[in-house]
Amino acid sequence: MQTTVTNTETLNPFEIAQKQIDSAAALLNLPKAAVDILKRPKRVLTVNFPVKMDDGSVKVFEGYRSQHNNAIGPTKGGIRFHPDVTLDEVKALSMWMSFKCGVVGLPYGGGKGGVICDPHDFSKGELERVSRGFMEAIADIVGPETDIPAPDVYTTAQIMGWMMDTYSRLKGVNSPGVITGKPLILGGSKGRNEATARGCVYTIIEALKEMGREPAGATVAIQGFGNAGRIAANLLADLGCKVVAVSDSKGGIYNPAGLDVQAVGQLKDTASILDYGKQYHISNHDLLELEVDILIPAALENVITLANADHIKAKIVAEAANGPTTPDADKILSGKGIVVIPDILANAGGVTVSYFEWVQNLMNFYWSEEEVNDKLNVKMVSSYQAVSKLAKAYNTDLRTGAYMISLKRITEAMEARGWV
Ligand code: NAD
Repeated sequence: MQTTVTNTETLNPFEIAQKQIDSAAALLNLPKAAVDILKRPKRVLTVNFPVKMDDGSVKVFEGYRSQHNNAIGPTKGGIRFHPDVTLDEVKALSMWMSFKCGVVGLPYGGGKGGVICDPHDFSKGELERVSRGFMEAIADIVGPETDIPAPDVYTTAQIMGWMMDTYSRLKGVNSPGVITGKPLILGGSKGRNEATARGCVYTIIEALKEMGREPAGATVAIQGFGNAGRIAANLLADLGCKVVAVSDSKGGIYNPAGLDVQAVGQLKDTASILDYGKQYHISNHDLLELEVDILIPAALENVITLANADHIKAKIVAEAANGPTTPDADKILSGKGIVVIPDILANAGGVTVSYFEWVQNLMNFYWSEEEVNDKLNVKMVSSYQAVSKLAKAYNTDLRTGAYMISLKRITEAMEARGWV
């Protein structure tokens, strides 16, 4: 994820998020004070915490937690473990979380956290100590009624379990509602693991419907083969789509006749997806430019930029990842008639089922997977339709429509509280 300026466009995610607010705010004619508040996170914490490594040495890790806006409710958003984490990225991700919660109408504002580290370098014990160390460092500002973290890139249900345990020990109470995406036995929600991908697929089905098309037979390329990308591949294959390309951080595979996604999944678990066969190899760069019906960026930010937007040939870009398209690239895609389902809508299934998890934790009463998926479907389909309707009314794209719904909602809450 780059933060430099290339081809005269900024790739700094924080500046990109600010630009996106400006475009939607202009259409809504929002009060200046509201825009000023929304363009900055309310609170940002930087922590440096020591961790004992297996070889006896002590390493100090830097991490961040950004709480963007809590006018509608407690802040909510994942924790990322990645070597390229920056403060500006975490700030931007917390802003996108506010708008994501706003677009699907959840009673939350946005938050996000990150630790600069590469979990691939850790033993299981080291990963546990880093996870517990970070939670201890941010424990004073998170809580079930203040700020509720969740998984993101390279963080898992197990990590959420360790973090919940650390927080509960510090506070002397069992506190499952402090974090979502936990293992089921600790109060995780059925369906949470698949929720981001499932929600994304629900929005793709709606976009296809608007084109008069069925999922069956549609071709798909997916960048990123983790929680979001891999599960989306499986769900779309189950619907009869032809998944022709997938990739991870090591590179991709492409077969125009369609990939066997179950076999690719097994390779990911045991070795590398690249073992599918050398003749199928494709770079992450070339994958994005394939002629497919549906392109799903499901890895990191800034992968569709001024440098490649003109070469994108997909009919639908469904942003499972946060911030994969820069504002300049967005304009090019829109000019080419490509339907971009924006991140704050396309990947909102994750936070929606995180919300369901939190509600179940607070009630101490748990739903079946069918109940969770049905409620998710209702939220995602109605949100897509509301965004699409508004975008058509203003003759704008889905991203601007989604931002408009969200900005309006958050501004209303700030007005009702007397902030603006
Ligand atoms: P993950 O850690 O499960 O998977 C990330 C995938 O991206 C891995 O397959 C990894 O190999 C791949 N990857 C990493 N660097 C890459 C690179 N440079 N090029 C290509 N692939 C690369 O993470 P995830 O939870 O699936 O998150 C992916 C994206 O979805 C992120 O942008 C995240 O913010 C977003 N997201 C996730 C959730 C969630 O609930 N997990 C919710 C909303 C949004």
